[in-house]
Amino acid sequence: MRRKLAAGNWKMNGLGAGLSEITALTAAHPDPSVDLLICPPATLIDRAAAIAAGHPLMIGGQDCHGNTNGAHTGDTSAQMLADSGATAVITGHSERRTDHNETDAQIADKSQAAYDANLIAVICIGETLAERDSHTTLDVIDTQLAGSVPDTATAQNTVIAYEPVWAIGTGKVPTLDQIAEVHAHIRQRLTARFPDGADVRILYGGSVKGSNATEIFAVPDVDGALVGGASLKADDFSPIIAALESA
Ligand code: PEP
Repeated sequence: MRRKLAAGNWKMNGLGAGLSEITALTAAHPDPSVDLLICPPATLIDRAAAIAAGHPLMIGGQDCHGNTNGAHTGDTSAQMLADSGATAVITGHSERRTDHNETDAQIADKSQAAYDANLIAVICIGETLAERDSHTTLDVIDTQLAGSVPDTATAQNTVIAYEPVWAIGTGKVPTLDQIAEVHAHIRQRLTARFPDGADVRILYGGSVKGSNATEIFAVPDVDGALVGGASLKADDFSPIIAALESA
């Protein structure tokens, strides 16, 4: 039985004043029946974790380095995130793959570093519009799964987020059949590769909102969502959580 997960990615948004959204979220969902995760900017992790203390809401990072420490100016290690109160970290988000030219091999290293620091790695994969249009989506998914997910992945330390690049922050969402096809494919690959692959959670991400969450969560093998824009405000994220609790 896979426990559902609603995860929010604040990206490079949020100052101290925005932490009131975490307070509001915990107040609105005092006893959630699904797992909740908010990944604020690294500068807010310790304060967010302090606010969420005593509530099941998890706080996570948005990226980590593959090494534990060293001469990597500006980078943050998984161990540092854990030390700040994080229990999870997003790896391989498409914005990092694009903005920082991150490769599958680097993402696998970052994910392994997350495991070593006892963090859950939320590993993101997904095709561009050009790849979808050229009917190579499932090949891209296979390459990213094989290259970005360490052999040491388990259902406890790993969540896969399927995020079509063209759906992120655009308001465009794949059809439910397209989501179902990719999630079923990911499930098949996970089951073939890992002893507990059937238990690894697979999130959908890309323009999830309160208005489309219910139909997306009804798709088989969609175990929750990774949400960007609609996770910034508790009032927007709450309906998505409620839809997941009802799914
Ligand atoms: C994301 O950043 O992972 C994401 C899915 O963003 P949005 O929900 O804004 O499309």
